[in-house]
Amino acid sequence: MSTLVFLEQHEGELQKGALGVLAKAASLGGGEIAAAIVGAGASALAAEAGRHGAVKVWVAEDPALDAPLPQPRVDVLAKVVAAGSYDTVLFGASVLAADVAAGLAARLDAGLNWDLVDLVRENGRLVGRRPALGDSVVVDVGWNGSPAIGIVRAGTFEPAANGGETEVVQAPVELEDFSTAATMLEQAHEEQAGPSIEEADVIVAGGRGLGGPENFALVEDLAKALGGAVAATRAVVDAGWYPYAAQVGQTGKSVSPKLYVACGISGAIQHKVGMQGSNVIVAINKDANAPIFEFSDLGVVGDLHQVVPKLTELVRARKER
Ligand SMILES: Cc1cc2nc3c(=O)[nH]c(=O)nc-3n(C[C@H](O)[C@H](O)[C@H](O)COP(=O)(O)OP(=O)(O)OC[C@H]3O[C@@H](n4cnc5c(N)ncnc54)[C@H](O)[C@@H]3O)c2cc1C
Repeated sequence: MSTLVFLEQHEGELQKGALGVLAKAASLGGGEIAAAIVGAGASALAAEAGRHGAVKVWVAEDPALDAPLPQPRVDVLAKVVAAGSYDTVLFGASVLAADVAAGLAARLDAGLNWDLVDLVRENGRLVGRRPALGDSVVVDVGWNGSPAIGIVRAGTFEPAANGGETEVVQAPVELEDFSTAATMLEQAHEEQAGPSIEEADVIVAGGRGLGGPENFALVEDLAKALGGAVAATRAVVDAGWYPYAAQVGQTGKSVSPKLYVACGISGAIQHKVGMQGSNVIVAINKDANAPIFEFSDLGVVGDLHQVVPKLTELVRARKER
């Protein structure tokens, strides 16, 4: 049994989610654990992949791979899977990873399971676990045939830097004509201070209870004081109060920080499914009967306009001590 983990990188930085998947794959053991890094600067990242558990790292650098487009990556991975006879290929969830994994599954006529929140080996076979029915149950999923391709939910596994030396291998870059038909015309970066919601240990989220977009400053101040990221519900994103990229939930992102502070959020099931994997959930809501209190570790019944600034003040004061 041998596993290949796609280590997504952007501008020379390996994505934490993918490194977490690598750590999980390494912990499962059972054969070679390899990684594939594609795009400019891939070779320079190989040693880091080794430190995170990859005994072999396939690197592919070519001008045609510079833009974060999926099809050229599918070409590279398909060749690597064949060359290394990998029977499992794993991805950390992202927009790019979803495209690459789906493309690879189609190319190799392989099975793809996504939104995995755990992976185990049972009687030598890989079994995935994924939430279903609005995250109310967790089901076991398997694969017919090979390779087994899986996408792991963002933030599920923590990276572990307990690997060592790694063997670096150049991956074949033989691109199909149709794979180079798409070109990247423009790339824009969202301005962001602090960690992204997928990577943050602390998230402060705002909902309709804020009352207006200007009050997101309260949430931002608390997030800054805690060194965290800001998230939002769909209600406020749809209202144009905050960018879509910050939306957590069924049609947004799934997050699992150590601490999730929900401010003025009712706790609708569609929001819950995106954040219930958080270690500790703190809710601030003026309605004692709000559903969010049913799945919070700590609840504050009160007006967020009073509670949140006070909390920010206390956090700042404690940090200054
Ligand atoms: C198909 C589908 C997909 C969806 N996907 C998502 C998704 O991905 N993510 C998502 O979030 N939602 C999603 N939704 C929407 C979801 O159903 C809820 O409508 C939404 O989550 C509610 O957002 P909210 O909690 O900000 O607003 P509300 O439900 O309006 O809650 C506001 C809360 O603020 C409290 N409040 C008001 N004023 C104050 C105050 N001064 N101080 C303290 N508390 C106060 C209120 O008591 C209330 O509980 C989806 C819905 C559907 C149908």
